[in-house]
Amino acid sequence: MSPPSLIDVHPNLAGTAPVALSYELFPPRSAAAAETLWTTIRELEATEPDYVSVTYGASGSNRDTAVDLINRLLTETTLRPLAHLTCVGNTPTELAEIIGELLDHGVRGILALRGDLPQDGQPATGSLRYAQDLIELIRRVELRRSALLCAGKIAVGVAAYPTRHPESPSEGHDVEVLLAKQRSGADFAITQVFFHASEYAGLVSRARRAGVTIPIIPGVMPLTSLRRLKRLGELAGVEPSRELIERLGAAETEGERRRIGVAATVDLANAALDAGAPGIHLYTFNEHAHALDVLDKLNLPRPSKALHRIKSAVRQEFAH
Ligand code: FAD
Repeated sequence: MSPPSLIDVHPNLAGTAPVALSYELFPPRSAAAAETLWTTIRELEATEPDYVSVTYGASGSNRDTAVDLINRLLTETTLRPLAHLTCVGNTPTELAEIIGELLDHGVRGILALRGDLPQDGQPATGSLRYAQDLIELIRRVELRRSALLCAGKIAVGVAAYPTRHPESPSEGHDVEVLLAKQRSGADFAITQVFFHASEYAGLVSRARRAGVTIPIIPGVMPLTSLRRLKRLGELAGVEPSRELIERLGAAETEGERRRIGVAATVDLANAALDAGAPGIHLYTFNEHAHALDVLDKLNLPRPSKALHRIKSAVRQEFAH
C-alpha cells in the first residue's frame, strides 16, 4: 500500500470547499424585457455569484442578442459570464468563428451543448452532431490561441441528466455520454432540472461508478410557478412531483404559492447538497425575486468578496 499523499493530509487543505453559486439568464426578446432583465442582473450581482450562464438558441437564432448580453455583462458588471453554445445548427467553421468572437470579448467559460434537434429530428447538413464534437472544437480553437490564454484557459461545461434524456435509450447510456464528454475535455457539468433529490444523487453515483470525476452541479429551478413547472416538465421530459403540483394548485393566494414553492425548492437544493453537490445553479427565468428568496433560506457557505474589498480599501487608505 502506498503512503497517503502529502497533499491529502496537509492540514490547510482539510475541510470543505465553499459551495459554488451561479444563475442562468436568457437573452431578452424585447427592449422592455431587457430593462427588467437589467434590474434582475443588478439584484443578482449583489449576491456575488461565481458566474452567470447565458443561454443560446438551438440554431444560433439569437446569436447577436446573446453576444450583446455577454459583452455587457463583461464590461458593465462584476459578473463572470458562462456562454452557452449549441452546435446542432452550425458548421464547424461558423462555430469556430463564434468561439473566437466570445474569446475576443473576454469569455473564459463555455457550456458546450448540442441543442434541441429541428422538427424533422435531424441535425442540419454539415453541422456537428453531438455536444462532444463541440467540446473537441472548442479545445482545438483554444490550442490555436494558447499564447493569448496564458492567464486563463477555457472552462468547458456540459449538460448532464438526472433522469433519462428523451432521446437516450437508458440512464446508463447518458452516463457513458457524460464520460465521453469528460474524456473530450469537459471540466464540469450542470444538470437538467429535476424534481426529486434522489434523481440527482442517482446520477452522481452512476457517474462516479463509471469514472466521471468532474463536478456535477445541480440545476435547480424555483418551484413557484405551476404553469412553468408543467411546461418545463413536458419540454425536458421530466415529471414534476404530483404532490407539489397539488399543493401549489390549492394555494389560495400568490403569497402562499410563493411560500410553498420556495420551501420546496430549498428542500430540494438542501437534499442535493446533502448528496454532495458542489454548488447550486439557479434557473432564474430572468426573474430575481423567487431566486433570491431561495438563496436567502439556503444560507450557503460562501466566500465573501465584500470582505476582500473592504480590506483592500483600508490598505489603500493607510497607504496614502
Ligand atoms: P448531447 O450530449 O450531444 O446528447 C444528445 C443526445 O445524443 C442524447 O440522447 C445522448 O444520449 C446522445 N449522444 C450523445 N453523444 C452520443 C454519441 N457519441 N453516440 C451516441 N449517442 C450520443 N438548449 C439550447 O438550445 N440552448 C441552451 O442554452 C441550452 N442550455 C442548457 C443548459 C443545461 C444545463 C441543460 C441541461 C440543457 C440545456 N439545453 C439548451 C438543452 C439541450 O440542448 C438539450 O437537452 C439537447 O437535447 C441535448 O443537448 P446535450 O448537450 O446534452 O447533447
